[in-house]
Amino acid sequence: MAAPRLNGGIELICGSMFSGKTEEVIRQVQRGYWSGHNVQIFRATSVPLVVPQNNTLLSHDGSEIQAMYISRSDQILPMLSSTTDIVAIDELQFLDWGVVDVCQHLADHGVWVIASGLDMSFRGEPFGPVPLLMSIADRVRKLRAVCTVCGNPAGRSQRLRHGRLAPYDDPVILPGAHLYQPRCRYCHRVPGRD
Ligand SMILES: [Zn+2]
Repeated sequence: MAAPRLNGGIELICGSMFSGKTEEVIRQVQRGYWSGHNVQIFRATSVPLVVPQNNTLLSHDGSEIQAMYISRSDQILPMLSSTTDIVAIDELQFLDWGVVDVCQHLADHGVWVIASGLDMSFRGEPFGPVPLLMSIADRVRKLRAVCTVCGNPAGRSQRLRHGRLAPYDDPVILPGAHLYQPRCRYCHRVPGRD
């Protein structure tokens, strides 16, 4: 069976921590494989990478695929194969704003782009290039987790450091010892903001 021809476009999957974004990226990538398309997968990291690294993209539910780990948007196009039909980019919020132009370029040249990332930082504010991509994407899905306090649908990510609520002036990107909980609008707390 020949793979059906794809039109280029951008699909954005966004939401809070633990909302199932990476699971959805993996599911979409697997659908791409099964329909005979050539798929390339990238995952952005908050740690600078001089050279992209091949690694496993692992979701919270345990499913996994191979992905190229990158830390800059200009690392995507040089690695692109001319036969690629679908490009997936996970953790988009860690990339510079140039990734929006990269996604537009790919879509304009017939590639279907599946982008995924946090739409809001732990502060509950727009996060990096994700909101801009949201405005130009052909399809947007906001996934929600379950609030760990009240059980309602959760769209925000509560950062905890040493068991305490992280303050507003914490860095937005902070590798290291801290935890996140999905929370709804009413249970999300940011000392220094509220
Ligand atoms: Zn709640």
